Amino acid sequence: MTGNDRNPNSRRPSNKAPGKSVSEREVYKSAPSRYRKRRSGVNMALVLITVLLTAALAASVIHIAKLSKSAIDDRRDSIEEAINSEKDTMSPKPQVEMITVTASAEEVHRGDLILVNYENPYVFPEDESELVTVYEHMSDDYRVAYNTFLLDRDVMDVFNDFAAALREAAGERCLLINSTYRSYADQELTYNNYVTDYGEEAAREYVSDPGYSEHHTGLAMDLTILLDDGTYQKMADYEHYDVINTICVEYGFIHRYPATKEGYTHIAHEPWHYRYVGVPHSYVISKEKYCLEEYIAFTKNYTLEGKLLSIDASGTVGECTVDTMPETGYVIYYVPAGETETELKIPAAADSYSVSGNNSDGFVISVRFGELTLPESSFAVVG
Ligand SMILES: [Zn+2]
Repeated sequence: MTGNDRNPNSRRPSNKAPGKSVSEREVYKSAPSRYRKRRSGVNMALVLITVLLTAALAASVIHIAKLSKSAIDDRRDSIEEAINSEKDTMSPKPQVEMITVTASAEEVHRGDLILVNYENPYVFPEDESELVTVYEHMSDDYRVAYNTFLLDRDVMDVFNDFAAALREAAGERCLLINSTYRSYADQELTYNNYVTDYGEEAAREYVSDPGYSEHHTGLAMDLTILLDDGTYQKMADYEHYDVINTICVEYGFIHRYPATKEGYTHIAHEPWHYRYVGVPHSYVISKEKYCLEEYIAFTKNYTLEGKLLSIDASGTVGECTVDTMPETGYVIYYVPAGETETELKIPAAADSYSVSGNNSDGFVISVRFGELTLPESSFAVVG
């Protein structure tokens, strides 16, 4: 469409032929109505094209406007996001209040959870005053093979509670403590006696090298069954062996060398050897069917900066963060040891907490919130 088309003069012939000097207007007048209609159709087409093009233009303008609006919205969103994240950094959420305790490098080798095995020797303390004589502290709920046996002071008390609960559940007195703490020299003697009695190969399978035995810790003991009628039984043959393996968890003891874990422990299945690790560790170890080697490695997945291992009031083992710790339950986390000493952060709202070295590179902390009794959990009797 051009402006000329709209100019009536352009339609006028510039060189009028004689006899044909009629105005365009006249032609129109004389033209059949069909022609007029066609002419009128041309006009209508022009109008229609105009309308369509205008509409198309308008539509594209609207589209561009929409695009621009969405681009602007996106930009605004990203700016708001940036501002909000800036706000988060500048004014963090109210932080969980923590207390700090300091642990020395030596304390990595102390505590209920220390892993003493074929590759982690026990670091003997200068002062072994934490050991007490079983015979002087024991209850009437079990017997002890020698009156010289020693156990860790705290473990002694818990063992008395465990033995009382077991006696009640089994309906009879059944336990005899067969071995407890061993010094380096004791372990040497044990090893050599085993070689004499059963040979070198058997000794390697069942007896740790001096320095690498859990018995050095005062946290481990070998048990057997001695009934009041004087009969002895092997632990695994006892009709209430599963009861022992359930109740021990409740008191913080674990069956340390199950048959299925020989690949980790490098010790053959020992149904008689128990180890104190404390609650709630005994609970997680039995529930998740770990041995101590696996559990110590597992705890390293949990730190205050990331996820924490959690146990809620129903006994469910899961994960949380510092901001989502259970109101009633436990959290467990690992803190790597520093060069000389380590600052350990503990939630100030804790009702109780325990810290243990892992005997190699850090500390495992368990924190309890509120009062709770964990549901029953036990080790598989075989394995
Ligand atoms: Zn043992």
